[in-house]
Amino acid sequence: MRVYFDYNATTPLAPDVADTVARVSREVFGNASSIHHFGQQAKATMDDARSAVARLLSADPSEIVFTSGGTEADNLAIRGAAEAVEPTGRRHLIASGIEHEAVLNTLRALARRGWRTTLLDVDQTGIVAPDRLRDAIDRDTALVSVMHANNEIGTIQPIAALAAIAHEHGALMHTDAVQSAGKIPVDVRALGVDLLSLSAHKFNGPKGAGALWIKRGTRMQPTVTGGKHERNRRAGTENVAAIAGLGVAAALASGKMAAEAARVSALRDRLEAGILREVPGTQVNGARDARVPNTTNISFERVEAESLLIALDLEGIAVSTGSACSSGTLEPSHVLKAMGLSPHRTQNSLRFSLGMFSTQEEVDRVIEVLPRLVEKLRGLTRRPVTA
Ligand code: PLP
Repeated sequence: MRVYFDYNATTPLAPDVADTVARVSREVFGNASSIHHFGQQAKATMDDARSAVARLLSADPSEIVFTSGGTEADNLAIRGAAEAVEPTGRRHLIASGIEHEAVLNTLRALARRGWRTTLLDVDQTGIVAPDRLRDAIDRDTALVSVMHANNEIGTIQPIAALAAIAHEHGALMHTDAVQSAGKIPVDVRALGVDLLSLSAHKFNGPKGAGALWIKRGTRMQPTVTGGKHERNRRAGTENVAAIAGLGVAAALASGKMAAEAARVSALRDRLEAGILREVPGTQVNGARDARVPNTTNISFERVEAESLLIALDLEGIAVSTGSACSSGTLEPSHVLKAMGLSPHRTQNSLRFSLGMFSTQEEVDRVIEVLPRLVEKLRGLTRRPVTA
């Protein structure tokens, strides 16, 4: 039995999505900017997808800009807003210290061009307290970017409260909802943000498709310049098949969100309880209540996470040490570090993320296999317990 518990890295396509991507690739090959039948067919396909993504966010279709994924949506949000706001003299950007690299490295790039940047601390549970933002924000702040749900620990941030503070100071509010969209309700008006990123491949859509929601009236400069695509906000001939796949994934997620969240969180809770019960020296990292339903991040005392990950892989079980981008390195997780966890604990933690095709048999298989692997690795380790 192979077990895939790495849905936060990426997800398998839903069967309807795979069928749509294949069909549209075959049958809808026109350029959506063309006036003739073939172009209009492509445009209509994109319009359907735009409406489905808008419904997922309780937004208006005209506010959706398709991108190549979450990374590009984050770049467009931050660079596009920064460039548009620059003439006002504001030159300060704020993000949380636990953002994805798509946000953190974009801020670093802008810092090299003279922007002042501030990273907000999180508490021990991985949450940004609104008072932290109050302390950091000033009249120079152009944009605040805080993720809706964290990719490593799944914690959900108080976005509405943070957005209210950003707006009190005349700053724009962006949230990276790549790990929440499709999993929990995401309502752009209730969140009170100006910009919101999502990515299809995190909720059973294809890779290389995503969207930035831009609240109507928000001033933005495009980061990819060229033709007049996407209402002048993102140039380039659109990947219609992938966008159609994103639309179907969004519609599927909207349709079964409550039931699927209940099913997946029951599996996640069973897995978490089973691991804590069967494996001594284990602890859950991050808030356990304000969390997306599919994620748990657990530290295993006296075990190198990378070694446990490889041992699990040899048993056919796929998990992660955190964000996929930093796997393959022994870098401690910047998220767990920002939460103030001990250096040992930042390197002995594994992320289990479940989804559409996860089953109770898979959960029970992991609970059965883990104690033996952990015991074996602890037997090989002479390192004293430091956490
Ligand atoms: N933001 C978050 C929170 C993510 O988890 C990811 C993917 O890991 C991204 C952004 C990047 O999205 P994409 O892979 O679509 O570029």
